[in-house]
Amino acid sequence: MSTFIHAMNAPTENPDIHSSHTTGFFTDSTLCIGCKACEVACKEWNDVPEDGLNLSGYSYDNTGSLSFSTWRHVKFVEGEIKPGDGGNSGNHLSWEFSSDVCKHCEVAGCLEACPTGALVRTEFGSVFLQPDVCNGCGYCTVNCPFGVVQRNEDDGRAFKCTFCTDRQKVGLEPACATACPTKSIMFGNLEELREHAQSRLSDLHGKGMKDAQIYDPKDTSVKGLHAFFLVRGDPRMYNLPPKPEVPIVYQKDAWRSAVIGSGAFLLAALIAFTGSRHSSRSQRKVSARRSRA
Ligand code: SF4
Ligand code: SF4
Ligand code: SF4
Repeated sequence: MSTFIHAMNAPTENPDIHSSHTTGFFTDSTLCIGCKACEVACKEWNDVPEDGLNLSGYSYDNTGSLSFSTWRHVKFVEGEIKPGDGGNSGNHLSWEFSSDVCKHCEVAGCLEACPTGALVRTEFGSVFLQPDVCNGCGYCTVNCPFGVVQRNEDDGRAFKCTFCTDRQKVGLEPACATACPTKSIMFGNLEELREHAQSRLSDLHGKGMKDAQIYDPKDTSVKGLHAFFLVRGDPRMYNLPPKPEVPIVYQKDAWRSAVIGSGAFLLAALIAFTGSRHSSRSQRKVSARRSRA
């Protein structure tokens, strides 16, 4: 199915970000086996071009990161053996996998920065990019704290995961979640997923995997993710920054400081100008008095 068809499934105006229709992804990385069925299903359903099938040298990864043509990316992390890796792992290195995607942020830097309205919030609470409205300015790319959205250098427009809005509108699950054989990618009502994630976390901690944690940064300007994760160890290993911030929040402060600074400068210039006019008028009066005398 072409990406252009998504534009015909245009999102509704002013959707409620927290309605009963708000859906999300809970990606449980401890269940991922690195099969990449999610990556393939995404490309097939959305008709996204392939990225080349050359190995990058970073484990069995051939794409490296999310991009305009990679809307799902399965990260391969090689490391030391950890509790819970299984009794047959011997002295070999462990493998952790995690399927990354657009986070459909509660406060989305891409959406806040887009000047054309190409990025909009859908009735499912997700962030949708309309390629036929995108003018290729690239503001979204520098305002995404996760490096998700990217421009296609060939035609200049930006692309990212659509959250399979077209499928959701007709009652289907996103293609990636449907294809995942281990249910590492779970799709459903966002609040129910959050409850399920907490119980899964307690379960893993009870089994000795104390380094398991939920990645859903609600205490930063991002205010939480509609596609959140359960990972083991440092989230940075999975391209998940510890404190992601929405850059435009700081840009607003910077603009406010710039306006206050400019105002103060203009006021100082006005005072200096008025003062100099006053002193030259006084000098002219003194000279006139002297010449009369
Ligand atoms: S992860 Fe980036 S591209 Fe996705 S919604 Fe958040 S800011 Fe936008
Ligand atoms: S939700 Fe759809 S567009 Fe997004 S990664 Fe999954 S398959 Fe691709
Ligand atoms: S389909 Fe599921 S198990 Fe396979 S790589 Fe993707 S998330 Fe992992």
